[in-house]
Amino acid sequence: MTDINPLFPENAVSLVKEHLTPALFNDLKGKRTKNEFTLEQAIQSGIQNPDSSIGIYAGDAESYRTFSKIFDPVIESYHGCPGSPIHRSDLTRPDLSDSVLSSGRVRSFRIRVARNIANLPFPPLVGSTDREKVEERTVNALQELKGDLGGSYYPLGELTGAKRKELAQKHLLFEKGDRFMEAAGINRDWPDSRGIFVSNNQKFAVWINEEDHLRIISMDKSGDMMGTFDRLSRALVFLEKRLTFARDPRLGYLTSCPSNLGTGMRAGVHMHLPDFNNQRALLNTTAEKYNLQIRGSHGEKTEVLDGIVDISNRQRLGITEKQCIETLHRGVCAIIRTTGTDWTTGTDL
Ligand code: ADP
Ligand code: MG
Repeated sequence: MTDINPLFPENAVSLVKEHLTPALFNDLKGKRTKNEFTLEQAIQSGIQNPDSSIGIYAGDAESYRTFSKIFDPVIESYHGCPGSPIHRSDLTRPDLSDSVLSSGRVRSFRIRVARNIANLPFPPLVGSTDREKVEERTVNALQELKGDLGGSYYPLGELTGAKRKELAQKHLLFEKGDRFMEAAGINRDWPDSRGIFVSNNQKFAVWINEEDHLRIISMDKSGDMMGTFDRLSRALVFLEKRLTFARDPRLGYLTSCPSNLGTGMRAGVHMHLPDFNNQRALLNTTAEKYNLQIRGSHGEKTEVLDGIVDISNRQRLGITEKQCIETLHRGVCAIIRTTGTDWTTGTDL
């Protein structure tokens, strides 16, 4: 196509490349937010990585207004709601009578939400002083948590040896970001002011200053979906009283990557699909049909190892938190049906 912006490599597949015409680029290239974030910074990751699926990041809350002409079509395409998706929130418990998540196929259940503190630049732009403020305010709030949410904070720069290994093995650790995050500016000053708060029972964690200021995580190995959702809801109610998060009436919680807007929620399972290599096409078709995302065993853009696949809701804006869980549940049921043995009963379907 001739009307594609020449800034992007020819083989780039990102949504930003698809929507950023030369005319739009010229219209937006001179604009900047009050924090001096530019379009060129926003699209760096998409320019440097032809395999980016989105390719544009926000440097602050204002980016979504200043560059709305490019963010809006990307947001509509990603979240699958033409005509501007609107944020809706519902943290009531989903009603899942026949949870398959306790089946042997599901090895663990994880829900995370992304949040950023209002009036501070987001990770692609934040400077060291503001990054320190994020860490300090968040840790102060988390240290007030009691009961099953109470725990300890580990600054990443000091996290070494056995504890680091243990957290990595339990999927609670985050490492320096990949080339997509590197190009977006998220890895600057690594590992300063980054850290992980983990509850004593290791079912609740908060990642500080990763891709967003906060990634709030609830996990469970037994597939206890309700318990995992309740724990996350309680943590959110608590944190909302102590921190003010960046949010917008239309776009919901504001995040570095537009794929996380709205609820900021990715609810997923690690599922064991022993025949993954042969069932890849079938899995992709089912995932597409049920609006799910497939990731590797160690997260986004990683390989599937030993048949452990990460399956989660794809849409996060224009859908409530409750619906994120229901979407996942419906999809996982379908995947179990289409890929063979039901491990709850041990029978072939
Ligand atoms: P996100 O950015 O949505 O939090 P990533 O794809 O970056 O997720 O993965 C972050 C980490 O979370 C990785 O270590 C991944 O293995 C782990 N993870 C994701 N889903 C699960 C799950 N259901 N159970 C256990 N760990 C998980
Ligand atoms: Mg991630």
